[in-house]
Amino acid sequence: MGDTILEINHLSKNYKDIKAISDLSLKIESQMVYGLLGPNGSGKTTTLGILLGVIRQSKGSFSWFGEGEKDENRKRIGALLETPNFYPYLSAQENLELVAKIKGIDLNPENLDSNSKSIDDVLELVGLTERRKSKFRTFSLGMKQRLAIGAALLGDPQVLVLDEPTNGLDPQGIAEIRDLIIEIGKSGRTIIIASHILDEIEKVCTHCAILRKGELLQTGTISDIIGNQDATLIKLTSNDIKALKTAINQMDKVSIYKEDEGAIIIRTESGTKTSDVNQMFFDKGIVLSALNMFNESLENQFLEIVGKS
Ligand code: ATP
Repeated sequence: MGDTILEINHLSKNYKDIKAISDLSLKIESQMVYGLLGPNGSGKTTTLGILLGVIRQSKGSFSWFGEGEKDENRKRIGALLETPNFYPYLSAQENLELVAKIKGIDLNPENLDSNSKSIDDVLELVGLTERRKSKFRTFSLGMKQRLAIGAALLGDPQVLVLDEPTNGLDPQGIAEIRDLIIEIGKSGRTIIIASHILDEIEKVCTHCAILRKGELLQTGTISDIIGNQDATLIKLTSNDIKALKTAINQMDKVSIYKEDEGAIIIRTESGTKTSDVNQMFFDKGIVLSALNMFNESLENQFLEIVGKS
């Protein structure tokens, strides 16, 4: 990590009354695998569209490679915004050759510089060497998506931008795409991925930004944001829930995380023992009828973050 690859400053986009993005600022450094995580409609696609020059922002600015919004810099960015239209009756290889031609990439081995990838290299990377001669229409959805990522990699872009790359795929297809993204990340490219699936972001990204209704809620490393285990969650029940709540509200370092089917889940300092909690409530005259450690799935933690108003 080091060089700034992308800087977004106070970016906003309105569609009439809809604020698709509000005052978004972010910095992405080289070699980060950066996730834009948010539920449907949170502004991920709009953000990527602006960054790739397909949509015009209402306010704010962004700068690729420290050089502003110059069109020529797009050549250094490979993007997959939606499933591209390959030709069904052409093979994987022929489709890639066509994409290279459209992109103006010279594939003549003598003209490829040492970093550039040939079609063979790209097919190998996306695991389609053996199917190179098969017609596109015979491909599974996962293979189509891998070919699309291969097409985005032609010309050796420094940055790869992917919008919901595993949408619609079966579990095996999802796993293959994730492995591929991890592999590409290891090759030193910066990758930006939009997804509404926390698990995906957690598995492949080094950093992420959480968006909700166009607003940035959090940014940081994955462990900062998602794996933040600095609190212990404990589920409590008592015959007198009202008194239990009052007691919680009077306590330091204990807060209500959420209410759950007649029980209350509290958040306490990490490492707090259930016996300590029992004693704390007993001292306040509350008898607990049940008390259990509560493991919240990461997916739920994310829903908690984006669900907060
Ligand atoms: P999804 O994963 O569903 O694509 P997203 O996070 O990518 O969601 P966007 O597609 O960027 O979100 O949409 C953000 C908001 O902007 C939504 O409320 C959406 O309805 C609205 N929006 C997006 N494109 C347009 C458009 N062309 N005209 C009007 N509203 C739009």
